[in-house]
This record gives sequence, structure tokens and C-alpha cells, in this order.
Amino acid sequence: MTDIRTALQRAARDLNASGSPSPRLDAEVLLMHLLGIDRLQLLLRPEMELTGEEDAGFSRWIERRSLGEPVAYILGEKEFWSLRFEVGREVLIPRPETECLIEEVLRFYRPPGKDLRVVDIGTGSGAIGVVLARELPAARVAATDISPGALAVARRNASAHGVSARMDFVQGDLFASFSGDFDIVCSNPPYIREEEYDLLPEGIRKFEPPEALMAGPDGVAFHRTIIREGAHRLRAGGRVFLEIGEGQREAVEALFEETGDYDDISFRKDYGGIDRVVSARKQG
Ligand code: SAM
Ligand code: GLN
Repeated sequence: MTDIRTALQRAARDLNASGSPSPRLDAEVLLMHLLGIDRLQLLLRPEMELTGEEDAGFSRWIERRSLGEPVAYILGEKEFWSLRFEVGREVLIPRPETECLIEEVLRFYRPPGKDLRVVDIGTGSGAIGVVLARELPAARVAATDISPGALAVARRNASAHGVSARMDFVQGDLFASFSGDFDIVCSNPPYIREEEYDLLPEGIRKFEPPEALMAGPDGVAFHRTIIREGAHRLRAGGRVFLEIGEGQREAVEALFEETGDYDDISFRKDYGGIDRVVSARKQG
């Protein structure tokens, strides 16, 4: 028989040996989920015995983590905006810095006022679209992705969070499948430059979908299209919000200025001090 203390020690040792950056934390999170208990219970009951089945299940999870698989894929979930999002290998794991994009939208649209039409381009797990549908109760939110697998996950997340009735899911290339105008266009598009991709941590390269990350030689190919087409899809006075990668501020600012259709271009830093979100207003 294995108790919690022994299982955690063994797992942390194995994860450490495999080069995991946070062995003890990963072991605790995985065991908490497996046993369905919180961290306090886990730490207060080190002598609690695991069943044979739990012990075997835990070992399988630790083995997957040792091979570099992110904890979120092993658990099938990730917390974003304090909500539980289902994730799987067909979607990017929502990142904490993407919460800055949501905060930026809410800075302009709270109180939300009139009925808003919102589109989330490249919705992945649905993180942005679902959170905005919850935070802007009068909004209708369209969510698009090129990947049918991602859209299926996003639909389930919308349903789990009670906003399906105000969301539309469309598979397609950026704006291609949409008609009509929007008040808010938002997106966390792929923004990793081709040559930068090989430098990403192995856990990302081996497990997350490359089409969610890679964006041509300069990393702003998607921003370019969204900014240009957005100028025709936004109502006058509407706004676009885009997540950007480190060092992309100047390039993205130039893209907005080139079109001549936007004003009030502003950037917001993430908690690491990096310019992470740009927003701009369609002139009207
Ligand atoms: N919005 C999610 C988030 O913030 O966690 C996922 C963002 S992920 C960086 C980019 C998403 O864009 C992926 O889900 C990918 O499938 C999608 N995508 C890639 N190319 C696309 C295209 N041409 N049209 C629509 N979506 C695309
Ligand atoms: N922030 C992601 C990363 O760290 C990149 C997300 C994106 O390309 N939009 O890999």
C-alpha cells in the first residue's frame, strides 16, 4: 500500500529526475485532482492510503508529465478567469496573460449598455468568447476557428458556463464565414514567428497545436489581416482588441496606422511588463 506522503515523494523525485521545473507542485495538483480533494486535505492527511487503482492511475499521470505533457492536458482542464475550461490536445491551453485582453475589453465596455455584437477570432477553447459572453450579458458573441476540433471544445465550454444561447460558433478562416458588422472584434491569434517556434519550451512544441501558435516569418500575419478586414467589419466607434507577442508593438502599431481607419490606439502591458494587448477604435 502507498500513502499520500510516499506517493508524493516518489512522484516529485521522478518528475525532478525528468527535468520538470515544478516537480512537487505538479505532483500535488495531479494527486488532488485524482483523489478529488483540495490541497489542505492533501497536506493534512499524509498517511491516507491510496487504493491500488488510485496508485496506478497516479503513476500513469506522473509518467505522462515526465514525458513533458502539460498538467492541463493530463487533467483535461485549465482555470481561466476563475472558471474551469475543458482543454484537449486540439486547443491551446489558455494563458494567464490573455486575461489582460478581457480586462481591456471590460475597461471600455463596462457598464456594457446597449446590445453588443462581439466576435472572437481563433477562439480555441472558447476562453475569450465565453468569458465575454458572461461578463457582457446583453452581448451576442460569435466565435470562429479554423479547427473543427477546437470549436467542439469551445461549444462545450460555452454550454458548461451557461452562455450557449448567446453564442454562435462558425468554422472558417478569420472573418471569411461572417456577415455583418461588429462592435467588438477580439482575438488572441497565433503570433510566434517561424524561426522562434523551435525555441519554445518542449512541452509547448510537443503537445500544443502548432497551428494555434505559428504565424509566418514576422509573427504578425494574422494581426495584419484582422486589422485590415476589421476596418470593414467594425461599426463606427467599435473597437478591436488583439493579443500580441513580445517585441511586436511597433509592427502592430504601424499596421493600424497604415489603414488610416483607426484612432485611439493603445497598448497594455501584462504582469511581466511586456506590451501584450493592443486596442484601437474604428473612426466614425
Ligand atoms: N483564443 C484562444 C485563447 O486565447 O486561449 C486560443 C488562441 S490560439 C493562440 C489561436 C487560435 O487560432 C487556435 O485555436 C487556432 O486553431 C486558430 N486559428 C489559426 N488559424 C486560423 C484562421 N486562419 N482562422 C481562424 N482561426 C485560426
Ligand atoms: N503565449 C503563447 C506562448 O507562450 C503564444 C500564444 C499565441 O501565439 N497567441 O506560447
